[in-house]
Amino acid sequence: MIPFRIDLSGKIAAVTGGGGVLCSAFCRALAECGAKVAVLNRTLETAQAAATDIEADGGSALAISTDVLDTAALERARQAIESRWGAPDILINGAGGNSPRGNTSAEFLLEEHLAAPALGPAAGAGVDSVSAPGSAADSAPAAGDDLITFYDIPPEGFRQVFDLNLLGTLQATQALTRGMALHGRGTIINISSMAAYSPLTKVPAYAAAKAAVNNFTQWLAAHLSKRRIRVNAIAPGFYITNQNRGLMTNPDGSWTPRARNILKHIPQDRFGSPEDLLGTLLWLIDEKASGYVTGTVVPVDGGFSAFHGI
Ligand code: NAD
Repeated sequence: MIPFRIDLSGKIAAVTGGGGVLCSAFCRALAECGAKVAVLNRTLETAQAAATDIEADGGSALAISTDVLDTAALERARQAIESRWGAPDILINGAGGNSPRGNTSAEFLLEEHLAAPALGPAAGAGVDSVSAPGSAADSAPAAGDDLITFYDIPPEGFRQVFDLNLLGTLQATQALTRGMALHGRGTIINISSMAAYSPLTKVPAYAAAKAAVNNFTQWLAAHLSKRRIRVNAIAPGFYITNQNRGLMTNPDGSWTPRARNILKHIPQDRFGSPEDLLGTLLWLIDEKASGYVTGTVVPVDGGFSAFHGI
């Protein structure tokens, strides 16, 4: 599955969100290269499934239930990893996603939206799932019955998305990289999004939070440079995942109108798959290949960010 092999034998990796679609592929790739992989996920079952896969293939993995916003849980995770193997050499901050509470329902604010009865800033309350753009959370209802305008977005919706993507990255990095700082070596990969560069419609909180992740990646790269820790980010474009497959494909396997619209903006005419990210991931981790690369955000998007279609 990996496009090329790098030597990670003896290395310890921690991957937050490691039970998810993209990051479970990252975990498998790291294990295939010889790393011992701590799969950190809020839901233990998905972390365990990823770890079991790795062990079935002869790799070493440890599933840990951890919320990246819970300092005490992160500390327990650090202790569990260190007592089993030692301090991580590699951290991937993959836990992230969007919430419908940070979305609008329409692409543009129109005059008739202002005439509609306001839902008020509690709109979206009670909808609590977190997912990536292009997923169910991104399928905010069209203007109409369930109109959510910019004026209806509850501040807590923004806060929830900023907490998960930005503070989750900050807190996991604080908890899990002190060993790297002590040893004077290590690498951190944050997971950003195409929404960070140019916000996608209807997902203002997610776009702004991922833009903050890009900015934080640069700051941290400079700040940790004297301890020889490199910090980079990967910005995936549009990937078909379990959460958005139903929105993107009809029962007969053809693309939905939404998927066709997205594809019009991807010069390579296809969605990404988790495997498309692995070459960039391994290159950024391999000290020999990218030892002078730090503070960058690498788009892996089939040309989406290079194309405006006009
Ligand atoms: P996913 O939902 O499959 O994976 C995210 C994982 O993070 C899940 O397993 C979830 O349980 C876990 N998680 C959520 N909140 C957590 C918390 N507080 N603490 C610990 N774990 C938590 O989504 P994915 O598509 O694999 O996304 C992985 C990363 O890639 C995310 O940061 C996402 O924003 C980013 N991304 C995804 C896409 C895409 O198209 N799928 C595009 C761009 C960026």
